[in-house]
Amino acid sequence: MERTNIIFGCLVVIFTILILLGGEESSAQKSVMQDNPYQYMRDKMVSTQIKARGIRNREVLDAMIKVQRHLFVPDHYRKSAYSDYPLPIGHGQTISQPYIVAYMTEILNLESDHRVLEIGTGSGYQAAILAELIKEVYTVEIIPELEKAAKNRLMELGYDNVKTRSSDGYLGWKEYAPYDAIVVTAAAGYIPPPLIDQLKDKGRMIIPVGSPFNVQTLMLVEKKGEDISTRSLMSVRFVPFRRGE
Ligand code: SAH
Repeated sequence: MERTNIIFGCLVVIFTILILLGGEESSAQKSVMQDNPYQYMRDKMVSTQIKARGIRNREVLDAMIKVQRHLFVPDHYRKSAYSDYPLPIGHGQTISQPYIVAYMTEILNLESDHRVLEIGTGSGYQAAILAELIKEVYTVEIIPELEKAAKNRLMELGYDNVKTRSSDGYLGWKEYAPYDAIVVTAAAGYIPPPLIDQLKDKGRMIIPVGSPFNVQTLMLVEKKGEDISTRSLMSVRFVPFRRGE
């Protein structure tokens, strides 16, 4: 009886030590936390928000670990840049939640020689993630001030494979069409036909569809010859797709 008690006591002590150790940050983690807090936050964002929700594509995960999201938000939001929600970027617009950016990127099945069109440059964050993965990114923003700021930011960060333009993305960017994939980051009432035209055969487009300021549906559009198939993926909330003059 006494022996059983001793064994049980030992097990309790061992488990307690293991639990305490598990909850502690390792010394390597501690030093990253001190030396580079943003990198620490980024690593944590990827493990708790992105990997934990099923994103598996290694290149997408690496891009999310590398791109300094805090440089894409206004200064006073930097500390929240790696939180699990969208943030305001001025002009009534937002940078999407990190998980949504990763999800939309992964589902496009990108390859390094791809050329992708983004509608809704905003901060330029999604464009930077794409630029880490593929050859050329074309991104269109309807608000000239946001386009200019994103262009400068992307240039300063050395993304020379991103071309920006300020215009109504409903019309796409015909000059460089067709694209291997298109990503739309504002919610449209319907899928703009010019974007379908500018998608390559076997190309994929991801777009939130639905009424503004309401829950919308993230849709995956696939073009196979004349055939256009659409699939609803999940409910989302994006800023509205606007139209030019
Ligand atoms: N991808 C962005 C998210 C921006 S939010 C990022 O990573 O930060 C969506 C953006 O779409 C807003 O900046 C908005 O101004 C822009 N937008 C809305 N309608 C548009 C249109 N018709 N053409 C181009 N951009 C549009």
